[in-house]
Amino acid sequence: MNALQQTSRPQPIAPDLGACSRGLYIDGTWRPAAGGRTIPVTDPSTEAVLATVPDATLEDAASAVEAAAKAAEGWRSTAPRKRSEILRRCFELMIERSEMLATLISMENGKALRDARGEVAYAAEFFRWNAEEAVRITGEFGIAPAGTNRIVVDYQPIGICLLITPWNFPAAMATRKIAPALAAGCTVILKPATETPLTAYALAAIYEEAGVPPGVVNVLTTTSPGPMTAAILADPRVRKLSFTGSTGVGRALLAEASKHVISCSMELGGNAPFLVFDDADLEAALDGAMIAKMRNAGEACTAANRIYVQSGIYDAFAEGLSRRMAAMRVGNGADATTECGPMITRKAVDKIDRLVKDATARGARVLCGGAVPAGEGFYYPPTVLADVPGEAEMAHEEIFGPVAPLSRFDSESDVIARANNTEYGLAAYIFTRDLARGMRVASKIEAGMIALNRGLVSDPAAPFGGVKQSGLGREGGQHHGIAEFMEAKYIAANF
Ligand code: NAP
Repeated sequence: MNALQQTSRPQPIAPDLGACSRGLYIDGTWRPAAGGRTIPVTDPSTEAVLATVPDATLEDAASAVEAAAKAAEGWRSTAPRKRSEILRRCFELMIERSEMLATLISMENGKALRDARGEVAYAAEFFRWNAEEAVRITGEFGIAPAGTNRIVVDYQPIGICLLITPWNFPAAMATRKIAPALAAGCTVILKPATETPLTAYALAAIYEEAGVPPGVVNVLTTTSPGPMTAAILADPRVRKLSFTGSTGVGRALLAEASKHVISCSMELGGNAPFLVFDDADLEAALDGAMIAKMRNAGEACTAANRIYVQSGIYDAFAEGLSRRMAAMRVGNGADATTECGPMITRKAVDKIDRLVKDATARGARVLCGGAVPAGEGFYYPPTVLADVPGEAEMAHEEIFGPVAPLSRFDSESDVIARANNTEYGLAAYIFTRDLARGMRVASKIEAGMIALNRGLVSDPAAPFGGVKQSGLGREGGQHHGIAEFMEAKYIAANF
């Protein structure tokens, strides 16, 4: 079974909320923010405040850069085998504590516990994978074409890295950056999303216990991400920005980083097309759609955002998907029986509601769901819309929620053109029994990742990333992820 599809486990283990909110993590110490201010963390299932975390100031940011700089030489000169063993220990501790971590993620993010368990397994895997990568960093050695000298290429850690992550995968988006950065020999400052900081701090305690030296990983929460990022990037010792989040913020960060010519990796928004051809295995396509649409209740950058179904299979697919979506158990994320938890905020619910109303006003039909429920918690029900026109706003914007918009198509060339009619290019899904067609369509779709007869692409062993406005660079994969945290140094050598 894939790590992301794990479902059954024992009862949730309550996390120690005090331990994950005891302070900023800088230079191996837990401390309050210099200004003494705090940020409340809300449970989206109940709207109750779970804990408060420090609201870091620019002074705290400067301390974090100082700590990362102080630790840099020791960490980059630590033997790769030793770094590898520490990363491996991070993996083991995450797996040992996976029930606690999953419960914490469900509490602060709202996602169903089964999704949170899958996320912890996926997030931990970045440590195991990069523990293996840490000892396989190689260089190049060749002879210059003119025969005059040798060409030696050495890969070195890029330097201090600023890592900024979103709320939708509070563990995995952090470990997908921290693990390769540490494997490469870099020290880092992590700024997690304000909505979900507790997981980042719980993981920091694990790194500490695993033997990550003080200053190698620093974690800061702030309500002023713009000024803080600008201040950190202005320090010439900081050489890398790795960001996961929306395309709008990514563009602003690229502009900021350009002032200092800082290397950037950008994992940005998506608008994934999901194509079902007439010859697809219907049950497999429905299984795939449920994963691609409903993992994380649709709050995933890879989520199927536009579902194109060929005319011959359209009605059967629409009926099957509506039946499955309507049967989903909606409820508190931390309840083990929940299949679809709440959205992250009220604002997210309002956006989904706006997109659904826009689509129906343009002629889409509601097959199930489609209305915001009353009561506490930021819920939106699993929803299927039929006959969503190409002009609907949701065909061009990330829905980021449990809404499956279906549209009919007839020809292969038409659906390829429609699938590519977006500024995004992160993931795409294709269901067909005709493998030649599957590979042909895959080659024509403008996306960094294609799932062929599968509902899931994420895998630490594969390069994750997008084209067009979905980003720059790759995370994970053989050498790809770690390469983002290294610089090639070329030595023209005579001897
Ligand atoms: P977001 O609003 O762009 O925020 C992402 C992170 O950036 C948060 O830590 C946020 O901090 C920070 N941030 C916001 N404004 C900033 C600024 N001016 N300067 C520096 N940092 C700033 O995105 P989100 O709503 O958290 O996440 C959802 C988006 O992420 C979606 O578009 C989704 O597709 C994308 N995503 C992409 C991938 C991928 O791998 N391609 C994976 C997951 C998510 P605050 O929390 O304090 O605002």
